[in-house]
Order: sequence, then C-alpha cells, then structure tokens
Amino acid sequence: MLTPDPAWYRAGAPHVWLPYTQMKTAMPALAVARTEGSRLVLADGRELIDGIASWWTSCHGYNHPKIRAAVQRQLETMPHVMFGDLANEPAYTLAHRLSALAPPGLDRVFFADSGSVAVEIAMKMAVQYRLNRGECGRNRLVAFRGAYHGDTAGAMAVCDPDEGMHRAFAGYLPRHLIAGLPRDDDSAAAFDRLLDRHAGELTAIIVEPLVQGAGGMLFHDPAVLRHLRRAADRYELLLIFDEIFTGFGRTGTMFAGEAAGVTPDIITLSKALTGGTMPLAATIASGKVFDAFWSDDPMHALMHGPTYMGNALACAAANASLDLFAAEDRLAQVAAISEALSTGLAPCRHLPGVRDVRVKGAIGVVELDDLGDVNELKRRFIAAGVWIRPFGNIVYLTPALTIGSDELARLTGAIRAVLAERR
Ligand SMILES: *Cc1c(COP(=O)(O)O)cnc(C)c1O
Repeated sequence: MLTPDPAWYRAGAPHVWLPYTQMKTAMPALAVARTEGSRLVLADGRELIDGIASWWTSCHGYNHPKIRAAVQRQLETMPHVMFGDLANEPAYTLAHRLSALAPPGLDRVFFADSGSVAVEIAMKMAVQYRLNRGECGRNRLVAFRGAYHGDTAGAMAVCDPDEGMHRAFAGYLPRHLIAGLPRDDDSAAAFDRLLDRHAGELTAIIVEPLVQGAGGMLFHDPAVLRHLRRAADRYELLLIFDEIFTGFGRTGTMFAGEAAGVTPDIITLSKALTGGTMPLAATIASGKVFDAFWSDDPMHALMHGPTYMGNALACAAANASLDLFAAEDRLAQVAAISEALSTGLAPCRHLPGVRDVRVKGAIGVVELDDLGDVNELKRRFIAAGVWIRPFGNIVYLTPALTIGSDELARLTGAIRAVLAERR
C-alpha cells in the first residue's frame, strides 16, 4: 500500500551522513514531503503529528504565513551581505529588539549561525574578558554534570564528561571544572568549596537554566540559579545562561532565568530564534562584559566573525517570530500545554519500567529504567501516527507552542499506549 521512497531519497541516502547516528544499525530516515502546523507529511502520504517540533525550533508551528512572508520579502531585496562594515536592517532591528527582550542590562548582541557557535563565542568572551583586563590564568569555566552545550570543541569541553555524548573525546578537550548542580545544602557547600579552591583560575560559570536538555531533560529549581548568581558574585565570575533550549517560552517564561529573578552576564540563544525556519544564533552580553573589550588596542576586539553573521534572511525570520510572540499569547499557550502534558502523561507513572514523569512548561518527559530497542519504540510511535523520538532513557515531548489540544492529546495518548504495550 505504501508508495516507494522517492527518487531523490534513493539517490541521496547512500551519500548522507546522519547526526548522532550509527549508520550501520540506524532506522532509515523518513522522507518528508512537506510540513504544516504541527504535522509532518511523509513522501508516502502518511501524516505524523510532530511531538518534537524539529528539536523545538518551530515554536509557532511549521510554515507560519507571517514568517514565510517576511523571508520572501527579504529575499526580494537582499538575502545577505557581510557583517564586517556593512549593516543590514533585519539584523540591526533584531539586535535592538533582542536587547529589549533579554534580561536587564544584557544589551550587546553578537550574531552567529548555530547554537554551538553561540556557546563558543560566550566562552571566548569570558576568556578574552580576563585577557583584556590583564587577569592572568583565569581561562577555565565551571560547568555541570548532565550539561550539554553543543558539538564544537569548546562547547564539547563543557558538556558532561562522563555521561555526555562527547565522553570519548576527553583527551582532546581542554579541561574545565565539572561540578554537581548546587541543589541542596550539601551540594551547595561542595560547590562553594570547589570554587574556593579554584577561583583564581576561573572566569565563568556556564549552565542551562532550569532544564538540562540533551543530558536527559533534567530539571532543577530556580533556587539553583540564585545560588549560582551569589557564587559568581562572591568569586567575581561571569555567569553564562545557555538558553538555547529554554529560550522563547519553552519553560513558561520568555527566558528560563526570569523564573529565578536572576540576571546572568551573558546568554546564548538559538533553536526557536527564527521560529524554526533559518539557522541563527545570538550571544548577548552585559555592558560590564562589553566594556572590557572597549579599548584603543585592536587586539582587545572580540576575535570572532562568522561568514554568515547577521544573515538578513534569518534575521527577518527572527523578527517575524518576535512579532508573533508580541501579537499572540504564546506563554498562555505554554501554560495550557503544561496542564495537558501533566494530565496526559500522569498515567504513565503506573506503567512498569517507568522511573519518573515530569513536566516543565511545554516539556513533557517520561523517564524509563531503559528504553530497550529504541528503533522498535520509534516504529511504534510512527505506526501510531506521531513523531516522537526517544533518546537515552527518556521519551519526551517538546511540541510547537501552537499545537492543537486534540493533537497534543494524540501525542500523550500514543505515549501511554506504546509504553503500556512494552514488554
Ligand atoms: C541545541 C543546543 C545547543 C547546540 O546548538 P546547535 O545549533 O545544535 O549547535 C547548545 N546548547 C543547548 C542548551 C542546546 O539545546
């Protein structure tokens, strides 16, 4: 009954190398013909409800007409000009708007083209901040177990060194300080002792606020972020919030740091920045950070500059996405999704092999003892008409913030049914 894979798929498949994928044992990728709202339409005609929103980028749903129109308009006038000494309207408008939206005092925007690179830039800012101020030897960061900050070398070095996907690379990477999150009195005291011993060699703390995403959708309380801010102040460290996952409403506030009332010195944004249409990232720094680069010495300039920096098409998409956040109450939608996820996933608690069910904002997680055959799980979800992609030991949902309540019910229902069938 199913139509065969399209010619482009058969021609390309032997030449494509897939992300994080053992190519020998992988389930073949699904050929997608088009997208609409929270739906993926496959080349063979099947339609899947998307529970992941393409790594939570398409926060307004796919093919939003307002974003499409903005990109089309921009394409007519100017797709791209270099960012060195040439200014384009979408990028300057976006810088202005992001600094208004970002935590207070963070008002200097450096654009890049992926989340990992935004993290590299944040780390480089933190290191060069010390160099420019003549503070010798302060070039290490504090990061956390369970952390994920990206796939480029600098970012890999602040991922979880034991459990993370980059653990095999330890010998290749610079050594930063990896701590446990200060979640309670004991871990907070241990964290403070660690900083006390190493403060002289440290420049910054980097953390994913409230949710460690790729590390397994692990949540922590806002109090953790307040402890980090106090510690950073005590030891004169910069505090970096990697909001690439959490930014743009995912956890219930526009940025996760807001829930703690904590202002970091640098934030990184990407994923949902363009509403899932174009690659774009931003590293936003406070005046205090920027001031360390303000000098008559050309070597005090921030030594970074991606070729496609400030890409006009991507920035036009991001501006259209911010228009949608301003015009439509996405945070109210997040609150409703949160309720529906809690109700819809709660029954999973009683299923065998389920270790935890947790929900924060528009993130729903069922943690298992063990996923078992992950390809089989994926196939069952596809057979149930949903796109859900378990990893590690979790099954999770990060749908578009605009998903319909009926579609969301189909997603949670599929998780309940598929996990209940598991032997
Ligand atoms: C996805 C992600 C990154 C990396 O972003 P890429 O665009 O994939 O390079 C970094 N940090 C966090 C928290 C992320 O979720």
